Amino acid sequence: LPTIEILGINFSATTQAQLVATVDQRLRDGQGTFVVTANPEIVMYARAHPEYAKLLATQPDEITADGVGILLGGKILHTPLPERVTGYDLMLVLLQQANQAHRRVYLIGAKAAVVAASAARVRRDYPNLELVGTHDGYFDLSDAKVAQAVIDARPDYVFAALGFPKQEYFLSAIRPKLPHAFLMGVGGSFDVLAG
Ligand code: UDP
Repeated sequence: LPTIEILGINFSATTQAQLVATVDQRLRDGQGTFVVTANPEIVMYARAHPEYAKLLATQPDEITADGVGILLGGKILHTPLPERVTGYDLMLVLLQQANQAHRRVYLIGAKAAVVAASAARVRRDYPNLELVGTHDGYFDLSDAKVAQAVIDARPDYVFAALGFPKQEYFLSAIRPKLPHAFLMGVGGSFDVLAG
């Protein structure tokens, strides 16, 4: 998807619907997609942390604008972005997509009780997708066992609710072993999904 640079980050000029269709087509073609929904906190954190800025410049396939301030920045620069695309909304639409296509989903992140409640909600509301694994988000990134468990589950979609920057570092680490999968950090979304 075409990109527009705002505050040093290459945002995808895409609507949520275009991105969802792109993800579906790429999954059909056996191609993975790593998405970051960049909110203002992420943008500011990247400005202060060169290592994270480098990750954002090199790892994600698509970075969406998750904030009206970012949209405003695009307008001021005369390079407007079509709309805000949030992690939570994108996750819900992609769960629907996974459900329709009977695809494999892994949920990782948040406290054990929260991810368990999120899993229960997913099983209830999206009965045709295959929930191939869940894990809480309180592990050390240097612990390769967690990454291996996700890889071994062969998910089509990994939703990682570890908060930033942990979720992006985790997804970057597993990505080479899951080249056909959709990967996205979803921040505090499981807390919402769990209800
Ligand atoms: N979280 C986690 N592991 C950690 C730190 C946080 O799983 O080591 C989870 C936390 O339980 C919450 C989510 O990450 O569900 C988002 O946390 P926060 O609101 O701090 O991050 P943001 O939404 O701003 O990315």
